[in-house]
Amino acid sequence: MLGLKLLKELLALPEHPDAAVVAVCAHEFAHIVSYSNGYISQLTPTPQSSPFRAEQFADYMAGYFAGRRKLDRPDFPAAVFATTTGMYGGYTHGNAKQRGDAVQEGFLCAYRRKLEPQAAIKRALQFALSE
Ligand SMILES: [Zn+2]
Repeated sequence: MLGLKLLKELLALPEHPDAAVVAVCAHEFAHIVSYSNGYISQLTPTPQSSPFRAEQFADYMAGYFAGRRKLDRPDFPAAVFATTTGMYGGYTHGNAKQRGDAVQEGFLCAYRRKLEPQAAIKRALQFALSE
C-alpha cells in the first residue's frame, strides 16, 4: 500500500525521488512475494508476532531489486533504497541500521553474487529469520 501522502513526500525528496518511490514499491512487492509463497507464516508465525522479520525480508528483497537494477543500469541510485527504507515504517520495521543492513545484503546478493530471484528469495528468508 502506497498512499498519496507518502507518494507526495517521496516525490518531494531532494535527490532521486523517482528511485525512492521505486524503493517503497519494491519493498511492498516483496511483502506480496512472502504471502504468495507462504513464507509469511514463518516470518510472522502468529497474529501477535512482531512484523520485524517480514519487514527484514521485504527490505532484503528491495535491496535485491536495487542490485539487479544497478547491474542493468550502472548509474542507478541504489543507495537511495537504504536511505528511503530507513526513513519510514516506525519501530516495528527495525531501526535505520537494521533496515539499511537488510537492503545492503539484498543488494549484494544481486550485484555481487548474482543470484537468480528464486535463490534470492530463499536467502532473504534465511536472513530475516536470523535477525
Ligand atoms: Zn513493509
